[in-house]
Amino acid sequence: MKTRAELVDFLKSRGLRISLPKLEIAAHIFKSHRHFTAEEIFREINAEYPKVSRATVFNVLNFFVEHGLLKKVEARSDVQLFDSNTEDHDHVVVDATGKIFDVQIPEREKLGFLEQIWANNPHLPRRHNASVVVHV
Ligand SMILES: [Zn+2]
Repeated sequence: MKTRAELVDFLKSRGLRISLPKLEIAAHIFKSHRHFTAEEIFREINAEYPKVSRATVFNVLNFFVEHGLLKKVEARSDVQLFDSNTEDHDHVVVDATGKIFDVQIPEREKLGFLEQIWANNPHLPRRHNASVVVHV
């Protein structure tokens, strides 16, 4: 997704009303796959559009989450991260840098791993779409 026209079509195809903040925020988060905090996107948008408030940026991000264009990811305990990859996937977090990478653990191996965890910790909820976060 590169051009503004494509972004407009993208939002329209999902029945979403187009606004300048939505379009600018979409351009920032969908130009390449990334994990980010709301504050990071706010700073980027604010540099170009100082009139767009922090609340608007946060609201638009949550709006995108509600409409399945973004996912919240619990990969770091210190910040709430958003992920522009909405497919099921797992994460590797480099603790020294805070950088996060998408990884795909083969389904069978992941299930075996999760079954062990669930067997040893029966109090944990069993979610079929559980994701794995590895810290290195
Ligand atoms: Zn991810």
